[in-house]
Amino acid sequence: MTELISDSVSNELTADTPIMAFAQLQLAAPLARAVAEMGYESMTPIQAQAIPVVLQGRDVMGAAQTGTGKTAAFALPLMQRMLKHENASTSPARHPVRALVLLPTRELADQVADNIKMYGQYTNLRSTVVFGGIDMKPQTLELKKGVEVLVATPGRLLDHIEAKNCVLNQVEYVVLDEADRMLDIGFLPDLQRILSFLPKQRTTLLFSATFSPEIKRLANSYLQDPVTIEVARSNATASTVEQHFYSVEGDDKRHALHQILKDRGIKQAFVFVNSKLGCARLARSLEREGLKTTALHGDKSQDERLKALESFKSGEVDLLVATDVAARGLDIKDVPAVFNFDIPFHAEDYVHRIGRTGRAGQSGLAVTFVSKSDLRLVTEIEKLLKTKVVLEPVEFEEDLPDIRKQGRINDGRRLYQPDHVSAPRADKREFARAEPRHSRPADPFFEKPYEPSLSPETAPAWEVSAVKPGSRNISSNIKTKRKVAALFARA
Ligand code: AMP
Repeated sequence: MTELISDSVSNELTADTPIMAFAQLQLAAPLARAVAEMGYESMTPIQAQAIPVVLQGRDVMGAAQTGTGKTAAFALPLMQRMLKHENASTSPARHPVRALVLLPTRELADQVADNIKMYGQYTNLRSTVVFGGIDMKPQTLELKKGVEVLVATPGRLLDHIEAKNCVLNQVEYVVLDEADRMLDIGFLPDLQRILSFLPKQRTTLLFSATFSPEIKRLANSYLQDPVTIEVARSNATASTVEQHFYSVEGDDKRHALHQILKDRGIKQAFVFVNSKLGCARLARSLEREGLKTTALHGDKSQDERLKALESFKSGEVDLLVATDVAARGLDIKDVPAVFNFDIPFHAEDYVHRIGRTGRAGQSGLAVTFVSKSDLRLVTEIEKLLKTKVVLEPVEFEEDLPDIRKQGRINDGRRLYQPDHVSAPRADKREFARAEPRHSRPADPFFEKPYEPSLSPETAPAWEVSAVKPGSRNISSNIKTKRKVAALFARA
C-alpha cells in the first residue's frame, strides 16, 4: 500500500512555501551547522515532506525536480541516520559504502556530490563521486580509501564494480535520482544490475519528475511500501520575470540578441537552442562576434562541459548557449536574462528555461525569438500560461531615424512609428516588418576574424565591443546605447 503526501504549492522557494524552519528538525549539530552556514533557514516543500519520512527509514517515491532542494531532502536525513557509523579511523574497512546515489549525467552527479560534501563537511562521513568520461584512476584511489556516500552515474559505477574497486554489500540506502531521465537514457539494465549487487534489506528512495508507467514499474520492483511525495510542478512563471516575445527571422536573431544585451546592459545570460548542432554553431558565431560565449550540449566531452559550467559560474564568460537536455537540472540560477533563441518544442520547457531568471524576488528578463514558422509553439505556451502572448517587432538601432535613436528601443513598448503608419495593435500577432531582414545582403562583419574586446575583464563584450554585429553602414557618430538601457524603467 502506498501513502500519499501531496502539496499543491509551487516547487520553488516562494512566498507560498510553507515556512518550516530547519531548527524544528533537530538535525545533529554537524549537519545543522553546515545547513546554517549554507544559508538555509526554512525548508522547501520537498524537504518539509521528505525529511521526516526518510528519518523514519521509509522508502520514498518523490515527484520533484532538481532546483527544488531535493538533494538536501534525501541527503540530510540519510546522513543523520548514518552518523551512528561515523568514525575517524583511517582504515578503509571502517568506511564501507552505506549510501549510493545514482544519477543520469556527469554534471548532475558532480553537482549533487558537491552539495553532499557541503552538508557533511563537519562530520566524519566521507563522500565521493564517480562518473564516466574521465580517468578512472583518481576515482579508484578515492574508493579504495573508503567512502560512506558514493554518488555515481550507472555506467561508470559498473566499471568500478567489475574492476573490484568498490564493494556494495553494506549499502543501506539507495537513491535513484532523476529516475525518469535514467530510463530515458536507457540505463534500466545497468540499474537492474547495480541493484542486484545490493543487500535486499535497505531503504530505497526514488525521485523522478514524472511518474510514468515505467517509473511505477521500477518502483514496484524495487521499493517497499513507499511513501509517495508529490510536490506539484509549477507551470506558472514568476511575476518577477519580464517576458518579451520578438518577431525575428533567421540571422536577425543574432543581431537582435546583441542589441537587446546592449540596450538592457545585461551582464550574463542563458541562450537556449533546440539542437546540439545549433548550439555549437551559435556559440561559435557569437564568440566570433566578440561575445564571451560557451556552449553546453551532449556532444561535448566531460572536461569541456565541466569547464563550460565553471567559466559561466565564475563570470569568465557572459553567455551560456545550451540545449534543454544539457541544461536540465544544472544548479545555475539567478541569471539576469534568458533568451529562447529557438522557441522550445514543449511549452513546459519554456517555464523551465525562464525559471532560471527572476528568482528569489530578483527581476529577470526572458526574451523569446519567434519566427513565422513558430506560431503554433507560441499558441502552446499561451495555453500553458493561460496568457495571451504579444509579439513585438525588434527595433534595430541603425534602422531608426536619428530622433528615435535617442529614445527607447526594445523595451516592450512601441514608441516610434513613422508619420504615415498608424501604431499597430499590441495584442495582435503580426510581423511588423514588411521586408524580411535576412533577405538583405550579408554583413561583411561576419567574415572578419574575431577581435578581442578592449577590456574584457571589466565589462561584458557587448558593452565594450568596437564592432557591431549585423550593423550595416552605421555612422561613426552613433553612440552606443548603453545609457539607453538605464532609461528602461520596467513598466
Ligand atoms: P537541489 O534541488 O537540491 O539541486 O537544490 C537547488 C538549490 O537550492 C541548491 O543550490 C541548494 O543549495 C539550494 N537549496 C536547497 N535547499 C534550500 C533551502 N532550504 N534554502 C535555501 N536554499 C536551498
